Formats: sequence, structure tokens, C-alpha cells
Amino acid sequence: MPSPAHLTPAATAPALSILIPVYNEEGVLDALFARLYPVLDAMGEPYEIIFINDGSRDRSVPMLREQFQRRPDVTRVVLFNGNFGQHMALMAGFEHARGEITITLDADLQNPPEEIPRLVAAIREGHDYVGTVRRQRHDTAFRRVSSRLMNRLRERITRIEMTDQGCMLRAYDRALVDTLNACQEVNTFVPALAYTFAASPTEIEVSHEERHAGESKYSIYKLLRLNFDLVTGFSIVPLQWFSLLGTALSAASGSLFLLLVIRRFLFGAEVEGVFTLFALLFFLVGIVLFGIGLMGEYVGRIQQEVRRRPRYRVSAVLQAAPDSGPVFTDGARAAAPADTGGALGASAVAGAKEITS
Ligand code: UDP
Ligand code: MG
Repeated sequence: MPSPAHLTPAATAPALSILIPVYNEEGVLDALFARLYPVLDAMGEPYEIIFINDGSRDRSVPMLREQFQRRPDVTRVVLFNGNFGQHMALMAGFEHARGEITITLDADLQNPPEEIPRLVAAIREGHDYVGTVRRQRHDTAFRRVSSRLMNRLRERITRIEMTDQGCMLRAYDRALVDTLNACQEVNTFVPALAYTFAASPTEIEVSHEERHAGESKYSIYKLLRLNFDLVTGFSIVPLQWFSLLGTALSAASGSLFLLLVIRRFLFGAEVEGVFTLFALLFFLVGIVLFGIGLMGEYVGRIQQEVRRRPRYRVSAVLQAAPDSGPVFTDGARAAAPADTGGALGASAVAGAKEITS
């Protein structure tokens, strides 16, 4: 499925599209620019970097604008009007990506940009999807343990074979990105979604660094929600497990009831064990509540899907105009690109424009 026409200037498609979601990353952006652009320039292939601003409230947007003015030949910025989440930002990035190969990475430099050439090489070996495994992960012990558990759960409940589902440094070929663009789901987990369509996925080991500055944008609550997206979006096995558990428990409580009836006839009224019964009751009520909650996670997502509201709103896109007409950014004339040695070539960078919706 082609990207929306109004967002796709008729420039020749670059070889690489790099997608980076940005949410309150003012502390890392300069360091990211300083490392990312040289890596891509050195590769000597046409590329575009698409930053998707996910409703940042800090200085990220002015910093992205400045960077766009510095390198309009290869920089595009998609501005959301609110915070729709990292995975929605990536989905918006895929819609805008024009490259033959699309690579996603985090803004905080936990995914070293220097690894990009290795991902590109793996795609060119004939794979349509390149996942990554963090060689030595630099995150808190809580994050490492919980994601190991989630990886294990995912292995059991889905057919997705991935060593490290959480690493967002990944590469996708054009056909796979087109397929992702055909998906309209609201709550999703991009690496898993892409894997379900991949014909020849592979994995490579990559290095991992500590977050360059600032803090993780995932609170425990947001992490929990994300993991529910993964579970509910790619498997109904938890529901099936739950119905099996329900069957087993009702069989067990039926037997207990029978036993109590028999004892009533044999020994008369008994009062011992009343607390045990309470404990049992609380336990069972807990399981019932868990089941209702689990069902709620699925039902809530079904409700979000059936409403079919737009998944996110793009308030503006900063990108080089395909024509050389007068072009303005936010009322101010955009800097004409001085560096035509950039990978898109002179014809594609004659101006810069901001598309607002
Ligand atoms: N991010 C985003 N929207 C969000 C949360 C995060 O666009 O609601 C971006 C964030 O700016 C970063 C990437 O997603 O580029 C990964 O976020 P973070 O590094 O905080 O996650 P962690 O490494 O802790 O999993
Ligand atoms: Mg991070």
C-alpha cells in the first residue's frame, strides 16, 4: 500500500528510511544528531531520517525544527498533536517512510546508530525482517527480569519466535512496511506485528548502551499496558487457559461440595474449617476478578477497534518540498539547503515545507 500521496513528494525513493520516535528527549537529541548523521552520510546511500514527535512538551520540537533546517535534504519531522505512544509513532513513521529499507531505533542512544550498516547488510542478504538481540543490556534489573518473563510468556502463547522482543532497533524491507501500512490496529506492538508477516526473518546481536540522558518514558503502568497490548494483540491463549482453569476449579469445588455434604450426613453440622473456607472463597473470588479483568483487556481493545477513530493526529510534517516554489515553515522562510551534497540530490531539496492538517 503506498504512503498517502500528499505526504510523498515525487522524489526518488531513498535507499534507507530511519524512523525515530521522540517523546520529551531534549537531553539526548543533540548527541543523537551528532552520532546518527555521520553514520548515514558515511554509508554513501540516499537516506531519510524521519523523527516522529509524540507530543513532547519539552524543547524537543524546536530542536527537531532546527535540525530540519540544518539538514532538510535528509530530515523529515512528523509532529503529532498529542502523546499517542511509541508504537503509534512508529506506525505513523512507516506511513511516511519511502525507503527501500526502513530502520527503527530509539532516540535515547540505547540503540547505537553505528549498528545500522549491519542491519542493512542483513536485509540485503535476503531477509525481509531483521530483529536484534541486545548483547549486554543496560537497563535496570527490574526491566531486565520483567522483560525476560514477558519474553518467556510470549514464547508460550504465540508463535512469534524472537529472542529479545523489546529491542526496537530493527530493519524491515519495503514489502513488509507496505503490509504494516495496511494494518489499522490501535493497540499494537510493532516488532510482533511485523514478525507475523515476515517471510524470512532473522536476528543479529547488537550492542546496547545506557540511556544517554533523561529517564525512561515508560512508567510501570505504561509498561504494563504495553505488555497487555502484546498479549491481547497476538494471542487468545490466555483466555483459553482461563477457561480451562475455570473448568478445573469448578470440578474441584464441586468435589469439595460433595465432600461437605457427605460429612454433613456422617458427622452432623461442623464448624471447624470455617476460616479455610473463607480463604478458599477469597482465593476463588480473586481468580474470578482476574478473569473479568483479563476479559476486560480484550473487550476494551475490541471496543477501541470497532469505533474506528483515527489512531493519531499529525498536526504538521516538516519535509523538503519536491518543487522549488516559495516555501515557508511556520511563517518563517525555511533555510534553503546549503548542503546539496546530501543524499537526496539537488533536485529533491529545492525548498522545504510544512504540511499542516
Ligand atoms: N517514546 C515515545 N512515546 C512514548 C514513550 C516513548 O515516542 O510515549 C519514545 C522515546 O522518546 C524513545 C523510545 O520511544 O525514543 C523508547 O523510549 P524509552 O527509551 O523511554 O523506553 P525504554 O528504553 O525505557 O524501554
Ligand atoms: Mg530507552
